[in-house]
Amino acid sequence: MPAGRFGQRRPSMLLRASVDFFFGSRLQMDDRSTLNDRLPVIVVGAGPAGLRFSQRLHALCPALPLHLIGAEARAPYDRVRLSSALAGDCDWASLEQGWALPEHPGLQWSPGVKVTAIDRNAHQVVLAGGDTLRYRQLVLATGSTPHVPNIPGTDLPGVYRFRDARDAEQLSARRVRSRRIVVLGGGLLGLEAARAMRRFNTDITLVEHSDRLMSRQLDITAAALLHEQVRALGLKVIVDDGALALHGRHAVQSVALRSGRSLPADTVIIATGIVPNTALALASGLPIGRGIKVDDQLRTGDPDIFAIGECAEHDGVVYGLVAPCLEQGAVAASVIAGTPARYRGSVDGTRLKVMKTTVFAAGAHPDRSATGAFGSLIFKDPANGHYRRLLHARGRLAGVLGVGDWAELPRAMDAVQQGQRIGWGQRWRFRRSGQLWPATESASVAAWPAGTTVCNCTGVTRGTLSEAVAAGCTTRAALAERTRASTVCGSCIPLLESLLGAPYRPEPVRGATPLLGMAALASLVAALITLLPGVPYVAEWSSQGWRWDALWRDGFIKQVTGFSLAGLAVAALVLSLRKRIARLAFGHFALWRNLHVALGLAAVGALLLHTGGRLGHGVNALLMGIFLLLIIAGGAAAVLAATEHRLAPAQAKRLRGGLNWLHILAFWPLPVLLGFHVLKTYYY
Ligand SMILES: Cc1cc2nc3c(=O)[nH]c(=O)nc-3n(C[C@H](O)[C@H](O)[C@H](O)COP(=O)(O)OP(=O)(O)OC[C@H]3O[C@@H](n4cnc5c(N)ncnc54)[C@H](O)[C@@H]3O)c2cc1C
Repeated sequence: MPAGRFGQRRPSMLLRASVDFFFGSRLQMDDRSTLNDRLPVIVVGAGPAGLRFSQRLHALCPALPLHLIGAEARAPYDRVRLSSALAGDCDWASLEQGWALPEHPGLQWSPGVKVTAIDRNAHQVVLAGGDTLRYRQLVLATGSTPHVPNIPGTDLPGVYRFRDARDAEQLSARRVRSRRIVVLGGGLLGLEAARAMRRFNTDITLVEHSDRLMSRQLDITAAALLHEQVRALGLKVIVDDGALALHGRHAVQSVALRSGRSLPADTVIIATGIVPNTALALASGLPIGRGIKVDDQLRTGDPDIFAIGECAEHDGVVYGLVAPCLEQGAVAASVIAGTPARYRGSVDGTRLKVMKTTVFAAGAHPDRSATGAFGSLIFKDPANGHYRRLLHARGRLAGVLGVGDWAELPRAMDAVQQGQRIGWGQRWRFRRSGQLWPATESASVAAWPAGTTVCNCTGVTRGTLSEAVAAGCTTRAALAERTRASTVCGSCIPLLESLLGAPYRPEPVRGATPLLGMAALASLVAALITLLPGVPYVAEWSSQGWRWDALWRDGFIKQVTGFSLAGLAVAALVLSLRKRIARLAFGHFALWRNLHVALGLAAVGALLLHTGGRLGHGVNALLMGIFLLLIIAGGAAAVLAATEHRLAPAQAKRLRGGLNWLHILAFWPLPVLLGFHVLKTYYY
């Protein structure tokens, strides 16, 4: 069964109430002396940076009032895993896990509210409705918006961006109908989008203007290897070319390229980079470069205003990955809490699975450094799709990039981030075997040095995790709860499991037990109807009492059971629209899915009452066959959804895709056949 979306929530309280909560409804100027103590720290933007800041500040100073304001009208969620949810690799609801703010009277959260201006003199922010809120300190965590190329046609229907949950929901609804998708941008986001939109019957072309995929991270050899592996998975890749215009009358139909080619497209996804959201800061006169300029304490030009995350520019660098944003959030929280802290910049590190291929890069990039600035160590194993390149300067590791699985990767990325020394023995071992450390040290995470970062997103080290294990955290969930490790991209989950000494076991979907029971019963009854002869009519005629075969003899009862069956089928169909129409994304998806299956089960019951299990002849037999196929395929897909945590993810995904398609295909002829059936019944 399909993956679900996570629920939207409207703002939980009136902003006016929040003003009253913090300041009292009749604020007098005489109250000024006590006012500053009661003013909240206001955070604008509930993305990873804003949320990390809020969680950290609350942990450090629980008594300090804090107000988190976010323009997105939903609970905070894990943006990094949006593509996994879109691809069906994880449940949409799981994106919210671990991202909630603690319940506390001093902590306030206003979703769906946009800050439109900052009045620095009055120490207040202006909200979209015109309300104002005063702040003690203001933290800008406004992130970025997608960069949209300045070409005609980007506003046509069928053209999408991929930045937030709304975009992902729209793409999810679109995915079923798309046959030709063009993704503009062959960077991290473009590849993620292409991966997520992949289906067996969809033609996807990636267009990248530079000479290679992921040019910001990879060198030419690694990019060529990735290119091959992406193509082997059925995606088309065009490099050294770009879009000139998007064409279409009522919706996008084609993409015109600089080279003169025209690519037919019913869907275009723009993934051509991001632009930091600096408008608020700019309008209030704060110094701006590519982002909002900040010092080592993440302060902007105004000592009471901080900027963190993708909207901030530190030391000339604007970061576009989640780990630096989280790090900045933690540092700003410490500074505001009065704990000495300094942000010294981050080493950008990316590790992601593109389709089935691991791609990684951290630290210095060979093409963006002066010639001769770095020495290079290369390990190649083309037969197994492995390529690893280390950059070093003055005996220390400065960069790593490559393609293919590598057990030592988290440790190697950490070594780059720490600028660790690389000895001659290590160089020799790396060139020969692609390993930096002896096999005995790499085998178990528990054997890694305590300072090695295990979760790159949250910066949690092996030492911190081991302390948590020693303090009684014996499950991955407990480790995540205590340390925050694995709560962002999740790629370190196997490492946590290795540390706990247990293999990684995914958890069942919400409502799995009733789902399994209902789906198995529906499939079983449908299979029995198919295989067994129908319920016999009563053998001897009698005028005494009620005869149960009146169910199939009495015209009125037949009509009641027939229309009930049709009604149940239509209701089940309407419920399934929850997945296809983004606007219907309310309520938890698991509930909708279970209701859909419950209606399917009720429909099988109605079918049994209506037909007595007889398959019929002609159109009736066809109708019956298609209906039973619909139930069996849908039931099997639901059984799979309830049990897929026991299967290998790739296998589960393939099976689920096939069964869902069979379920959908079986539905299409039903309305016509049903029409014939009704006509035939009434005509005769
Ligand atoms: C699909 C996808 C996949 C990604 N994958 C990875 C990955 O694998 N690894 C990785 O490291 N990074 C990845 N990233 C990047 C990562 O998500 C970002 O680096 C991170 O989200 C930045 O966090 P932020 O809090 O600075 O900004 P954002 O996440 O952009 O959050 C900013 C928030 O502020 C809100 N806001 C903006 N202006 C206002 C206003 N005026 N008033 C109120 N609210 C406002 C916005 O609505 C938004 O919710 C991915 C991004 C996407 C979109």
